[in-house]
Amino acid sequence: MNTRDKLQSIAINLWWSWSPEARSLFHRLNPEVFRTSGNNPQAALALAQDEVLNDPDFQDEVDTVYDEYMSYMDRDPEIADAPNISYFCMEYGIHESMSLYSGGLGVLAGDHSKAASDLGLPFTAIGLFLREGYFEQSFNANGWQQSTYPVLDPAKHPISLVTGRGGSDPLTVTVHIGTQPVHVRAWKLNLGHTDLYLLDTDFDANPEEFRPLTRRLYQGGDHQRIRQELILGVGGLRLLRALGVESDVYHANEGHCAFLMLELLRERLDAGDDLDAAEDWVRDKSVFTTHTPVMAGHDHFDPGLFSEAMAGFQDEIDLSHNQLLSYGRVDPDDPEETFTMTVLGLKLSRAANGVSKLNGHVARQQWEDLYPDRELDEVPIDAITNGVHLPTWTAGPARDFLEEHLDGDFTERQDPKVWDGLDDVSDDTLWDYRSSLRKRLIEFVEAHVQGQSLPMQPELDPEALTIGFARRFATYKRAPLIFRDRERARALFTDPDRPIQLIYAGKAHPQDDAGKEFIQRIYEISQLEDFKGKVIFLEGYDMEIGRMLTSGCDVWLNNPRRPKEASGTSGQKVAAHGGLNLSVLDGWWPEGYNGHNGWAIGPEPTGDYGEADPEVQDEQDAESLYTQLEEEVIPTFYDRNADGLPTEWISMMRDAMTGLTAPFSAKRMVIDYVEEMYRNDGS
Ligand SMILES: *Cc1c(COP(=O)(O)O)cnc(C)c1O
Repeated sequence: MNTRDKLQSIAINLWWSWSPEARSLFHRLNPEVFRTSGNNPQAALALAQDEVLNDPDFQDEVDTVYDEYMSYMDRDPEIADAPNISYFCMEYGIHESMSLYSGGLGVLAGDHSKAASDLGLPFTAIGLFLREGYFEQSFNANGWQQSTYPVLDPAKHPISLVTGRGGSDPLTVTVHIGTQPVHVRAWKLNLGHTDLYLLDTDFDANPEEFRPLTRRLYQGGDHQRIRQELILGVGGLRLLRALGVESDVYHANEGHCAFLMLELLRERLDAGDDLDAAEDWVRDKSVFTTHTPVMAGHDHFDPGLFSEAMAGFQDEIDLSHNQLLSYGRVDPDDPEETFTMTVLGLKLSRAANGVSKLNGHVARQQWEDLYPDRELDEVPIDAITNGVHLPTWTAGPARDFLEEHLDGDFTERQDPKVWDGLDDVSDDTLWDYRSSLRKRLIEFVEAHVQGQSLPMQPELDPEALTIGFARRFATYKRAPLIFRDRERARALFTDPDRPIQLIYAGKAHPQDDAGKEFIQRIYEISQLEDFKGKVIFLEGYDMEIGRMLTSGCDVWLNNPRRPKEASGTSGQKVAAHGGLNLSVLDGWWPEGYNGHNGWAIGPEPTGDYGEADPEVQDEQDAESLYTQLEEEVIPTFYDRNADGLPTEWISMMRDAMTGLTAPFSAKRMVIDYVEEMYRNDGS
């Protein structure tokens, strides 16, 4: 194979997205095209510069990366006798070149699928072909967020249309929306060993009304949502059947895809099972993950809407209408109760979990009424805490550094001995590591703002304490909390001896004006004399900005209103880079925080949530945030020894790197899913 062919075969497997060496090869082919295409290898390859392709050194490097890819694909599975897993999720964050995600849920699903590939699991993932994705962010002159919807062209991405066996015609399945048949086809992505199938209704076999169904994520009202979820759950299962994919276990990741369980039930009833046997069978094969700590946040549909959308499915399944509705109701006899997807997921699965210990606890409180015979502690919802795919989220230079200094592969399973090597790394070397990642981020920020519609004039100091805050601008995440007391914030940002700087990124949902106001407020603050140049908003939050910020910042700020952050994963991405979390004890952080590997904002968790007055909580948490910054974070960063090193800070970095990396990795998480959820030992 020649160099171009090797690059081509790497480009069509998203394995490249978690190989910094592969990404760097494509970048070098044509840096400008790579950058403007959203770091898309196929775009760079199509316009590759000949002198690069013909350079013998470059060719040698391609050979090396290609061999690495081949050995990854040939490797024996790490987990023996794993069941065949089919995984469903509404969104997938795989790489910034494909906008198939809006936030944490999608990034988690992408990381889960990649880690499943690393472990060699027989794993198939199902999602939607969100051709117009979530949205692209820009701003008008007042700092008000605008949304546009660039269209994903499959020809420019490693996405191929799934054809029927042996033929060239697209494989299609049919799902009824109301009483009308809708044709569903699928696109396939290779994520290492994992096949990801994305369902699509946007083609000419369908009437205009149904074509946009799969185009955008979380747009339109319930009417659109329930139809989309029918495509995902029912269509997804039908696709698996048409493909002949064997499944021992079906994992519904969040309620959006839980209709798959009704389709399983329909199959069993069709095959002649009585209802009890059919339900038992479905439960035996299904597992369910809930993420939503706010009651109103669970997808729920008005019974009238449900009946209308499900009319065709109702005709296909051998159940009365009330029986069908009862799967989504806590009280099956209440004709007013909506159909809630989480209830369906809980009723028809053998095991369910929240995504952190605290979130599991909240979920048990939320759904206690579904299990009237049980004590709160016995509500059958466990917890598996989220983790991040380290190969995706560890910056290239960080990986090089850690490979050089550690006693083994830190992206592998948890082995505390791997980190012993860190003991031999001097404070000096470790501080250089931190400083070089901070500088790399600052260079990225300076380049990125050039292309922004929101004007920013960064004056960032490569030696100054750099704080990051990037996430969806849902209001519960309280992005502007640090500016609640403007004078106190001003004092922090204008101290000439102990400079700090704060970099933001994030998108507000297009219908969330309160979230847009938060961005606008931050924009306005960033233009005030005392904050200018030091408070920066990066436009177009995506996985690349996520990688840069989580690898470059010294402090990762997270101040949600507890208990609304189900897990949060961005703070987990900072650990390997020596970043420190400054976070409310919500989501994963109560499990990670040990008193010396970061800081806590606000009170300890009490186990009793949902009662706090938000206004009081905001006041209390802001006070705590200021105190932590004034008395702990900033003094520790600037407390230097004779060599100019912040020794206490560096000691905290060691603690965070050693203790938080492997335990909050997607590899640990997926192994937990295999052992606790996917394996069915009959218990
Ligand atoms: C990691 C990541 C998220 C999830 O972060 P949270 O802490 O859960 O908010 C969302 N979006 C992007 C682009 C990410 O990289």
